[in-house]
Amino acid sequence: MKIHEYQARELLAQFNIPVPPAQVADSPDTAADAYDKLAVNGASLAVVKAQVHAGGRGKAGGVKLVRSTTEARDAAQTILSKPLVTHQTGPQGVVVRKLLVAAGVDIAREYYLGLAVDRASGRPVLIASSQGGVEIETVAADNPQAIFREPVSPTTGLQPFQARKVAFRLGFLGKQVSQAARIMIQLADLFLKTDASLAEINPLIVTPATDEHPDGQVLAIDAKLNFDDNALARHPDLAQLADPDEQDPAEARAKQYGLSYIKLDGAIGCLVNGAGLAMATMDLIKLHGQEPANFLDVGGSASEQAVTEAFRIILADANVTGVLVNIFGGIAKCDIIANAIVAAAREVGFKVPLVIRLEGTHVELAREIIEKAKPSLPTLQISTDLTDAAQKITAAVA
Ligand code: GDP
Ligand code: MN
Repeated sequence: MKIHEYQARELLAQFNIPVPPAQVADSPDTAADAYDKLAVNGASLAVVKAQVHAGGRGKAGGVKLVRSTTEARDAAQTILSKPLVTHQTGPQGVVVRKLLVAAGVDIAREYYLGLAVDRASGRPVLIASSQGGVEIETVAADNPQAIFREPVSPTTGLQPFQARKVAFRLGFLGKQVSQAARIMIQLADLFLKTDASLAEINPLIVTPATDEHPDGQVLAIDAKLNFDDNALARHPDLAQLADPDEQDPAEARAKQYGLSYIKLDGAIGCLVNGAGLAMATMDLIKLHGQEPANFLDVGGSASEQAVTEAFRIILADANVTGVLVNIFGGIAKCDIIANAIVAAAREVGFKVPLVIRLEGTHVELAREIIEKAKPSLPTLQISTDLTDAAQKITAAVA
């Protein structure tokens, strides 16, 4: 689950990571008000930031520095007036509904800090770089020696000696070292306590030296947190932070019916029970020269209602020119699933080719049911094995 930057900043603050003050706005006027409130403390620089579940906003015009109420209002107007297209959104972009107006800071240096799960070592890892402000993927590709990795114990967290080591490697000096190390330890703590799958501060910055802060201040000015969906039951407070506006409507609907659905760009809709079988089905479609339109796991029990909804979701995708159903009847018996498929297919109505492959318990009964339903489902083809199914559906849409 993803959350917005403004929500992530609040969590950072709860974990005592220093973040400049900020306010949420949803219109040019509320952005202007937010600027005025922040400017009360004498600051004139602020930053107006699009709140969307996509990165790369800065380069795309979704982050604007402003120095007056009028500039804040104009920046808000500009950002809200059109979808934001970043390298992560696709060409259609995403609608901007909310803004963050944050106190602006002067930046001497930008760094990257992130926590993720390292699958190779099976534990969290702190990733840090002095090349902040740009995408970490770009740094990893162009300048991999500028990235430092430090394993994090899932039970005891990031140890102070580890954090100091990373802070020195990043080139922090004087009092910055302890500030940066503390932020790393706190971010690791947040990552573990919230069951996060990703926690990023990009950029972590150092402000220029001033009389008040001769060593500069280390601050987080952007934050990205993703949480493990499977752990959300333990965090009802975090689950509430989900923004339905940011979810793909089809994916949100699928979730309501207990379906795991991810939309993809191809033409062949897939209805499969079991995540592994779904992956294998998608592989086979690709092997036969077509692209899957989705990943869809209807789950082990695959009720008629869930299958009906799955067909609806698949057929609502305008790219879909054919549907492949691949079910292995294990816990749920094939005949029950076949009845569900036939009833659902009739209810939804098929104009595009439909290929069904069933295998497993009561498969003979199931084939009879589907055979009988053929007259009312003219686009239906039955196949016995998976390769035959993939060949039939790719031929039917070619
Ligand atoms: P992202 O592009 O979506 O990751 O958005 P960020 O919040 O990281 O902002 C992008 C860039 O805008 C940062 O890397 C900074 O260079 C700049 N920026 C953001 N906030 C401030 C600020 O308060 N002061 C200054 N000087 N630059 C800022
Ligand atoms: Mn950023």
